Amino acid sequence: MALAAAMRITTPIANITRGIQRFTEGDLAARVPVSTHDEVGQIAHAFNRLAENLAQRMEELEAWSRTLEQEVTRRTNEIRASRKFLHTLISPLSGTTSDWETIAQEVLEGAEAVYCALYHRTEEGTYSLLATRSTVECQGAITPRDTEREITEAVQGSDGERLCTVTWFPMRMKDSLEGQLVLGYRGTSLSRGFVDQVLSALTITIVNIHSFDILTRLGTRLKDSNKTLKEQHEILIAQKQQIEETSKLKSQFLANVSHELRTPINAIIGYSEMITAGYYGEITAEQTERMAAIEESGRNLLNLINTILDHSRMEAGKLPLYVERIDDLRKLVKDTIGRNQSLTRERPYSIEFDQPDFPVPCVSDGGKIQQILTNLISNAVKFTEKGGVRVTLATRAHDIILSVKDTGTGIPETDLNSIFEAFKQVDGSSTRRTGGTGLGLSVSSSLALLIGGEISVESTPGEGSRFTLTIPRQIIEAN
Ligand code: ADP
Repeated sequence: MALAAAMRITTPIANITRGIQRFTEGDLAARVPVSTHDEVGQIAHAFNRLAENLAQRMEELEAWSRTLEQEVTRRTNEIRASRKFLHTLISPLSGTTSDWETIAQEVLEGAEAVYCALYHRTEEGTYSLLATRSTVECQGAITPRDTEREITEAVQGSDGERLCTVTWFPMRMKDSLEGQLVLGYRGTSLSRGFVDQVLSALTITIVNIHSFDILTRLGTRLKDSNKTLKEQHEILIAQKQQIEETSKLKSQFLANVSHELRTPINAIIGYSEMITAGYYGEITAEQTERMAAIEESGRNLLNLINTILDHSRMEAGKLPLYVERIDDLRKLVKDTIGRNQSLTRERPYSIEFDQPDFPVPCVSDGGKIQQILTNLISNAVKFTEKGGVRVTLATRAHDIILSVKDTGTGIPETDLNSIFEAFKQVDGSSTRRTGGTGLGLSVSSSLALLIGGEISVESTPGEGSRFTLTIPRQIIEAN
C-alpha cells in the first residue's frame, strides 16, 4: 500500500519534471497529463497554462520579428533605390543633356508605382511634360493638376474600371512652384519613404537643369554676338587703315600743292613791293594804292597757304623745329604786330602792345611764336569791329606769357573747346561775314605744343575774348 501510495505521487511529479524539461529544450507543445485533482494535479495544470501562454507569446514574438525583418528589407530597398536615383539625378548635371526618361523610370521603380509623370512649371504657369513612364494603359487619363498641395484620387480608365490611385506632388523651391510629380499606384500605398527622400532633390534638379539650359542658350547667343562684333571690328580696322591711307595721301597732296603755290605768290608779293618802291618807274597814287592791295592780298594768301602747309606737315608729323636764342622777345612781338597793323586799316583802332620795361630773352623757335601770334592777332581783328585789340607780353617764373585780348564778338562757352579742332568754326555757315578755313587755332595750338607751351582761351559772348599763349623761357630738349 505504501508503494502504491508512493507511485501515485511520484509518477505525476516525474511527468511534470519531464514536461518542464521538454519545454525548456524547445518543445513548445510539451504538456503534462493531469490525472489527479490533488496538489500535484494542480501543479500539472498550472504548468500547462503557463506553457500555453508562453507558446502563444513566442509565436507572437516570431510573427513580429518576421514583420520587422520585412520592414527593414523594405526600408533598405527604399534607401538603395533613393541612392541609385540620386546618382541618376546628379549625372545629367555634369553633362549637357537631361535624361528625363531615365529619371522617370527610376522614380517609377523606386516608388513602386505603375505610372510616373514629371512636369516642369513654365514661367507662364503651365505644366510642360518632361517625361512619363507607365506599366499600365492610361493614355490621357492622367493629366497634371493646377494645385499647390498634394492630392490623391482614384482614376478610372477609358473602360470605366478603376485604373489606379494617383497622387499629385507639387514640387516647390522656397515659395515658388517649379514642377509636379504625378505617381499612380495600385494596392495600398506608394513607397512613401522613397518619394519623400527624392522629391526635393528632383525639384532642385529641375530648377538647375532649366537654369543650365537658359545659361547654355545665353552662352550661344553671346558667342554669336561676339562673332558678329569680331567681324565688325575687323571691318572697322580695314576701314580705319583705308582712311589713314587716304588721309596720308591728302596731306601729301596738300603739302605739294601748297609748296607749288608759294613760289608764284612770293613772286606776286616781291614784284608788288618793287613796283611800289619805284623800281620800274614812277607810279600814280591810285596805282600805289592798288599795288598795296595786291601785296596785302598776296600776304594773306601766303599766310593761308603756310597754315595749310603746316597743318599737312603736322598731320604727317614732319614739322621741323628751329630752336634759337632770342635776346629780346619784345622786339619779335613788336615786329609781328607791326607786320599785322595793316589788318586794322578798315577798323577804328590799331593793335596796342603792353610790354615789360626790361628785355625778355628766351630760347625757343621764334618763327613758330610769330606764326602763333599772327594767327591770334588776325583772328582778334577779324572778329572785332570796334573797341580794340591789345597784345600783352609778361613773364612768370620759368614761363613767358603772351596774350591777345579783343573786344569783339566773343565765343559761346559750348564752343570754347571745339574751336581748337581742325576746320571747326563757331559759325560754320557759308553766309557768315568773316572768312577763314578753321585751321588757324588748330595749327597754333599744335605749334604751341611743339615749343613746349599751350594756348588757353577765356571769352564772354558780346564782350570779347582773350587768347593766352604760355611758353617756357627755355625750350626743353625733349620737345
Ligand atoms: P578761322 O580761319 O575760321 O579763323 P581758327 O581756327 O583761327 O579758324 O578759328 C576757329 C574759330 O574760332 C573761328 O572761326 C571763330 O569762330 C572762333 N574764333 C577764333 N578767334 C576768335 C576771336 N578772337 N573772337 C571770336 N571768335 C574767334
